[in-house]
Amino acid sequence: MVALILRGDNNGFMFSVPLTIPPAKAPDKAIVHIAPSWEHGASCGSCTRCCKEIGCPVLDQESGLCRGYDSFFWRYFNCGRFPTIQPEIDYYGCPKWLMNPEPVFAPAQAATEAQPAGATE
Ligand code: SF4
Repeated sequence: MVALILRGDNNGFMFSVPLTIPPAKAPDKAIVHIAPSWEHGASCGSCTRCCKEIGCPVLDQESGLCRGYDSFFWRYFNCGRFPTIQPEIDYYGCPKWLMNPEPVFAPAQAATEAQPAGATE
């Protein structure tokens, strides 16, 4: 991961994480879910698309395994928390993750939620 940052050819991938955000071992399930068509459960199976796309130096080319899996850098930067937005899924062609649908509010419900607590009309 550090090599990716120092090489500077990661398209901003590693620097998109705010320095104050805690490390993560998985994406936020409030944002994404595993595609029903994905057959490997929580695992990425033999897929290495995102690793190959960024030319990750810790991907073992022979085994297809990540040599940095669950390391501090893996959790701190984007690997552990991937994906966070639809363009990331699209860019890497990730077949595993789907964005959760946006919550839909009825107009009356939205107006109620927009009022500050204790407000009266
Ligand atoms: S592209 Fe998606 S399924 Fe493939 S290795 Fe990356 S996160 Fe896992």
